Amino acid sequence: MSTISNDLQTPRPPLISEVPDERGRFGQFGGAYVPETLVSALEQLIDVYDRVRSDERFWDELRSLLTTYVGRPTPLYFAQRLTKHARKGADRTKGAEIWFKREDLAHTGAHKINNTIGQGLLTKKMGKRRIIAETGAGQHGVASATAAAFLGLECDVYMGSEDVRRQRLNVTRMKMLGANVIEVNSGSRTLKDATNEAMRDWMGSVEHTHYIIGSVVGPHPFPMIVRDFQSIIGRECKGQSIRQLGKLPEAIVACVGGGSNAAGIFYDFADDKGVRLIGVEAGGRSREPGQHAAPLSLGSPGILHGSLSYVLQDANGQTADVHSCSAGLDYPGVGPEHAYWKDNGRVEYTTATDDEALDAFLLTARTEGIIPALETSHAIAHALKLAATMPGESRIVVNLSGRGDKDVEEVGRLLAMRP
Ligand SMILES: *Cc1c(COP(=O)(O)O)cnc(C)c1O
Repeated sequence: MSTISNDLQTPRPPLISEVPDERGRFGQFGGAYVPETLVSALEQLIDVYDRVRSDERFWDELRSLLTTYVGRPTPLYFAQRLTKHARKGADRTKGAEIWFKREDLAHTGAHKINNTIGQGLLTKKMGKRRIIAETGAGQHGVASATAAAFLGLECDVYMGSEDVRRQRLNVTRMKMLGANVIEVNSGSRTLKDATNEAMRDWMGSVEHTHYIIGSVVGPHPFPMIVRDFQSIIGRECKGQSIRQLGKLPEAIVACVGGGSNAAGIFYDFADDKGVRLIGVEAGGRSREPGQHAAPLSLGSPGILHGSLSYVLQDANGQTADVHSCSAGLDYPGVGPEHAYWKDNGRVEYTTATDDEALDAFLLTARTEGIIPALETSHAIAHALKLAATMPGESRIVVNLSGRGDKDVEEVGRLLAMRP
């Protein structure tokens, strides 16, 4: 009898998915560390999002666009030849099956569009006429330019000049879609610097402009909003796993830049403790400072771009230089929900190097006829290692976050430099 009354009196512990709190905290992480000028813009966004969250018409409209315009649901696909290759040599019955959640088949070629269409609709709800965005690999820039064209909004995209060089194809795409691309020449001329400039623009333009942040980073409510829009990936994946595999997969692997494709596929599995969730950061050339982009694996808590999370920083708290062969992972910060998942142990974080990603890129192209993005190739590289340690009847789902058409020139250059 006493145990029953105790059970009734003990509040249920919160689920891992029940974050952030109303202050935008994921455990100790997150929050909104912003200048005064942005406070009212963030409050306006919180208000609008509060209203649409319970508005079935908003989600019906979004769902309809994701179906007819974006091409959702994206397939869950068994990478049979890649699996066979991974099993070669060893006992052929050993080694997990590798499956792909095909976000590369979404319109514009990556998961980014799930977020830009959602935030584009929010922009219209707020009565604003212009969007701005930052971009690294150019995928978020293309997805933002696409949403802007589709919804009749003006669009300016900030991009580091180093990334403009590496991702020329996407720069051309953005311009053709009617967006204005603003080259950023400060700092390391990559994603962090583009984000700084976009934030500066927003401070002077909040009245008519919405800043579409491209990942689960930035001040509250961005990490929550972007996660919610991307969580369609995991929700679909769960239903597809049950229908196609007859059960949930043993492990899910995703690459982590800012962390939006990973958060998108992980979120619906956060409370399914039997599913291992693994995030793969950019190991770059080595674990030396400046040679990688792995804040969760090698960084420490700090504030960057308006929120508290893991950051790569030097002893004085200055943001460190980063390196990755993939422009989309080349960022010293990461979303606060990942910091929370790291510290509570729900998600494991690891790294894959430039070389491992390049090998996985070529192997996937040649065995599957799928050219993955260099970002995604980091996740595939780790899945190949992980598969070998798992029994033959187990399944790994890799979030195939995007296609690699944008990377073929850069990969050619990197291959030419190989000894
Ligand atoms: C932008 C991008 C990433 C990295 O961003 P996340 O927010 O970590 O998902 C990964 N893969 C592809 C294909 C991208 O375009």
